[in-house]
Amino acid sequence: MKTKTKREARIPSVPSLALSVREDLKYSGLGVSAGIAIGPAHVMEQGLIDVPEYIVTDVEEELARFDKAAKFSIKQVEKLRVKASTLSEAAAEELNYLLEAHLQMLAGSRLVRGVEKRIRSEKLNAEAAVQAELSEIAHAFSEMEDSYLASKIQDVREVSARLVRNLTKAGYQAFSGLVPGSIIIAEEITPADTALMDPNIVGGFASALGGAEDHTTIMARSLGLPAVLGVSGLVNQVRPGDMIVVDGVRGTVVVNPTEATIARFERRREALFRRQRQLERLRSVPATTRDDMRILLQCNLELPYELALARQVGAEGVGLLRSEFLYMNRDTLPSEDEQFVAFKEIVEGMEGHPVTVRTLDVGSDKLAYSLGEHISPSTNPALGLRAIRLSLKVRKLLETQLAAMLRASAHGELRILLPMINSASEIKRVQEAMDKVVRRLTRKRVAMSNPLPKLGIMIETPGAALAADSLAKSCDYFSIGTNDLTMYTLAADRGDEQVAHLYDPLHPAVLRLIKISVEAGRSAGIPVNLCGEMAGDPRFTALLLGLGLRDLSMAAPNLPRVKQRILGLGINDAEKRAEQIMEQTDSGVIATLIDDFNALD
Ligand code: PEP
Ligand code: MG
Repeated sequence: MKTKTKREARIPSVPSLALSVREDLKYSGLGVSAGIAIGPAHVMEQGLIDVPEYIVTDVEEELARFDKAAKFSIKQVEKLRVKASTLSEAAAEELNYLLEAHLQMLAGSRLVRGVEKRIRSEKLNAEAAVQAELSEIAHAFSEMEDSYLASKIQDVREVSARLVRNLTKAGYQAFSGLVPGSIIIAEEITPADTALMDPNIVGGFASALGGAEDHTTIMARSLGLPAVLGVSGLVNQVRPGDMIVVDGVRGTVVVNPTEATIARFERRREALFRRQRQLERLRSVPATTRDDMRILLQCNLELPYELALARQVGAEGVGLLRSEFLYMNRDTLPSEDEQFVAFKEIVEGMEGHPVTVRTLDVGSDKLAYSLGEHISPSTNPALGLRAIRLSLKVRKLLETQLAAMLRASAHGELRILLPMINSASEIKRVQEAMDKVVRRLTRKRVAMSNPLPKLGIMIETPGAALAADSLAKSCDYFSIGTNDLTMYTLAADRGDEQVAHLYDPLHPAVLRLIKISVEAGRSAGIPVNLCGEMAGDPRFTALLLGLGLRDLSMAAPNLPRVKQRILGLGINDAEKRAEQIMEQTDSGVIATLIDDFNALD
């Protein structure tokens, strides 16, 4: 396979739905990451993509690759069509019409047939074949007298762009060369895309798809990027460079705001900054309730970059280091050495505070390209081969990670955490793998901590919570993952905006499972931490403390607000309120009891 040239593909520059008035257009969605960002739009589905061009040796393989990209594109458009049905009738009709045209094109139009022909006859790689076919069709359209038909080239461009993106997995380089403060607008933003966002350059983002607690959201919060997800009909209305306001507190997006609108949002943004600066003064104040109960506040890290933020807010350790960052945006797996260096830097960076490193938790909404060959498509990925299940199936993955963690443990306190554990036998199998790695490292005289790192488990399925008393006998600590626990308990996908209203961590079933887990840990005498997103929301702090938690881990930007809440709380009052709450059967009543209690202080 030899690269000949790179074709620069200009992907659509004119949106399909032209509006006569394009000023101060307001949209609403799920405000998932607080803060206000104002800046020029970078529309992910538009802009320049470098398309490699080369001669393929295996034509059938290339045809199959193209077919896969076309099928994936169809799935994406179908998803957008479902989403469009939530718009107002006229907008839904217009968007539907457009997406229907895209679907037809993807199912076998001149574009698709032309690409296949070029792959066969010219042995051209699929991306370049799409580009070549698009150029030819565009030329033919430009000569048309009928202006309506000529305008249809825009659809062909959009479909071609989608195909090229899906063929090139173009996310990798998506955010280089942006104007600082740019707002990313996209149909869907994956956790891997978010990992590429430098908060010094990206101001915030908004997308059509995505739920309240998916990993994109979690990363946005960690990076302090204002974000609104699930905004229907946005992508087609925004042109690159349009001024955008993203209000991640209220879930509002404004396209081309008027001066008065900008001034209003700037005033609110300034007030938020002021409040943040006040909270920063709490950095070295211990997190102690009014009645002297000391609470441990740690940070969740998605990316090593956030280490500085964790220290800035005075975190007393890393309660959850999601090791997935090492696997994102790459085609190869990270080596033991690479992982060791990453863990060691974080352990050393926390200067004596413990760092809890979780083994790989990919699958479901967290997909890593580098694991492609190990994860086959599943109709139900959240229930499929993810997290510890994958690590136990592909032992090399697990052993490499354990070796890197054990080596890093020589440089500071490191704890190992296992995601999505359901049974003691899974812990036992990890322990066996760990014993094997320890023997190998000992033979090689590699330094490790003594005693060896503590081995803990996530409690994030209803099964694990209900069996917490027996699981406690096989591990050193629990970490409650309320993000997945809520999803699995209520059977509501945390990443699907269509069921976001059903995803409710205050549901009595979820609260009971948290309580069962805390009590099981307490009876067994092992520490219990909570590292789901609930931990970072000051609205829930009193309830969690009332349920017996004393150890919370959250995104760094949330820590000062949670600490402030703790400083104003009495543990006895919180426990009494939690008792009342646990008697309720309705999450609406529970929410009111929480809000009333919070309002008292
Ligand atoms: C959780 O499920 O609550 C959790 C902390 O893990 P993650 O969000 O990474 O799935
Ligand atoms: Mg989880």
